Amino acid sequence: MSSDPTGPAGPSFDLGPDHLELRSWVHDFAAEVIRPAAAEWDEREEFPWPVVEEAAKIGLYSLDFFATQSFEESGLGIPIAMEELFWGDAGIGLAIVGTALAAAGVRANGTDEQVMEWVPQMFGSPGDLKLGAFCSSEPDAGSDVGAMRTRAVYDEATDEWVLKGTKTWATNGGIADVHVVTAVVDPELRTRGQASFVVPPGTQGLSQGQKFSKHGIRASHTAEVVLDGVRVPGRCLLGGKEKLDARLAKAREGARAGTTGGGNASMATFERTRPAVGAQAVGIARAAYEVALDYARTREQFGKPIIENQAVAFMLADMATSIEAARLLVWRAAWMARQGKRFEKAEGSMSKLVAGEAAVNVTTQAMQILGGNGFTREYPVERMSRDAKIYTIFEGTSEIQRLVIARTISGAPIR
Ligand SMILES: Cc1cc2nc3c(=O)[nH]c(=O)nc-3n(C[C@H](O)[C@H](O)[C@H](O)COP(=O)(O)OP(=O)(O)OC[C@H]3O[C@@H](n4cnc5c(N)ncnc54)[C@H](O)[C@@H]3O)c2cc1C
Repeated sequence: MSSDPTGPAGPSFDLGPDHLELRSWVHDFAAEVIRPAAAEWDEREEFPWPVVEEAAKIGLYSLDFFATQSFEESGLGIPIAMEELFWGDAGIGLAIVGTALAAAGVRANGTDEQVMEWVPQMFGSPGDLKLGAFCSSEPDAGSDVGAMRTRAVYDEATDEWVLKGTKTWATNGGIADVHVVTAVVDPELRTRGQASFVVPPGTQGLSQGQKFSKHGIRASHTAEVVLDGVRVPGRCLLGGKEKLDARLAKAREGARAGTTGGGNASMATFERTRPAVGAQAVGIARAAYEVALDYARTREQFGKPIIENQAVAFMLADMATSIEAARLLVWRAAWMARQGKRFEKAEGSMSKLVAGEAAVNVTTQAMQILGGNGFTREYPVERMSRDAKIYTIFEGTSEIQRLVIARTISGAPIR
């Protein structure tokens, strides 16, 4: 039997004082500010500006917070903060962190100078908040990113890119100050012929299309973004023209030789954000589990608390176990990403898959434990279960996560 003297490397499970402090700081905000507001903003289905302002006042909606936690050594800062925020409420949580997805899009593909220029403009400052939106999906290109039609054409005379197309389901789409847009620069190359662009605040030709009315996360704004001949300066191409030209040349060479190579702009963003999205799902699941546990201890039927029925207690046991399992996968994937380790087994996708499905199952079981009360808006698990469903859909559906995992572990061209 071979032995590896270093053992399986992994994150420490002892949270240090910084992580404990972060957790209780975000938790207190979630308990005191987000939770009391959750039902109202879900009902209103509007962006919860006053709550996001409160978050900004304490430094929870800011470039500083985002940067400190993103560059923090263990990689656990972001998942810890996400879990607590979304434990508070997922719709408001997404209103607070939706900008971070757009910022991740700039970080994944942009130069340091571009990160410094655009990311601060996405957050603004208390009293003058700004938003960012990441626009990749299109009406005919959701899971199939290669079917994207939005075109970016370079105008050499003016050193401008001209963007034309329609994006859909964009979180903060149309109300954001800075939009990060993926577009096709070379249609022959499918996903490898795509690039990301920043559309600066106030750019002519960008407008909001339909705003969607949703099943869950209703405090988060989701809308179409129409790009009607939007002209952006050359410096808005993330990564720069030289890097794009080199990447396209490599992809064309690969296409001729029948191999892959050259990378993809949307995928680079999603790889970074999947564990964080998984952590959001863990937060929703934990919130619903806690409500169900309390309820099962106090609700009496047949002369005893319902938790004394094995059928109910086993449901709680399964819920607790799947939350712990999901959190471990999320933390490990976040740690691996921070250490620059390759996801050899698609660990990022595994974490998002397990956490998303845990959120749906746990919130459904929580409703079951609350009986009729679980089905009403008098109790929060009904909202939590509506919110949980998006975690098997956005940032790659559960089927797409399975596809990525299956391809990674098998090396086979599974479709
Ligand atoms: C609330 C919300 C917020 C969003 N925010 C953003 C955002 O900020 N930015 C952004 O760019 N996008 C965003 N999205 C879009 C989201 O990422 C897509 O909805 C998602 O990727 C799925 O694409 P689709 O809806 O087109 O589904 P489709 O791709 O049409 O899939 C439909 C069904 O077919 C299955 N399917 C498709 N292909 C395969 C396959 N090869 N094998 C097996 N099953 C398959 C899917 O799993 C799914 O069950 C958001 C969506 C929502 C609803």
